[in-house]
Amino acid sequence: MIEPSGSSRQNQVSFSTRFVCYFALVVLTCFVASLEPACADSSPALTVRVYNYARTPQGILVSAEREANRLLNNSGSRIIWLDCLQIAFSPSDKMLCDSGWSADLPSVRILSAGASRQFQDLDYGFAAIPVLVTISYDRILVRAARDDSPAEASTLLGCVIAHELGHLLLGRDSHAPAGIMQPIWGREQVRQANMGSLQFTPQQSDLLHKKIGLLATRQEVIVAKISPITSTKASTGL
Ligand SMILES: [Zn+2]
Repeated sequence: MIEPSGSSRQNQVSFSTRFVCYFALVVLTCFVASLEPACADSSPALTVRVYNYARTPQGILVSAEREANRLLNNSGSRIIWLDCLQIAFSPSDKMLCDSGWSADLPSVRILSAGASRQFQDLDYGFAAIPVLVTISYDRILVRAARDDSPAEASTLLGCVIAHELGHLLLGRDSHAPAGIMQPIWGREQVRQANMGSLQFTPQQSDLLHKKIGLLATRQEVIVAKISPITSTKASTGL
């Protein structure tokens, strides 16, 4: 008798405990789930316009952008790449792409061999601070071919984009003796790039975070000005 009674009471306590634990788990899960989007969106996002004149294959370009984003993510920031040469994009994106060169709308243009020839000093890339990054895709391809490593092209392209964007965002004299802002990339730097260890220093990451936060705020203002115009055009069919 005691045993069943005790057993019954024990079961009740056990059930109550399980219910409380289950309820607490559900509440905690919902709480975490409700926080997740806010956490995911809390890092400043910078829109960078991309003009792929070299017709870099989409797979290579996307991989390169992912690599550049990974390097810049260390600063707690993220990049939204806006492909300005694609055919279908929204009216507001088109207005951003047609807005002309601007420090508030950093841009990356990727050139092929013919277009690169006019820039005699162009190695892998250079930056017109604080507005525009120019990349020679063909010289990156030559390097990947010389290393007999076709897969190297997307990684190297991503690192070069991150380096040149580093110049736009960190300002002049932003070369450093170590990390991704080294001025000369030889065999060792390319090896580190392929290993994913050619990165921004903590000091550079701090500065990048601040600068990207400032630019992201300015870009929100620009987009807010554009949005009413494009929505009016859409509603009137113009
Ligand atoms: Zn440089």
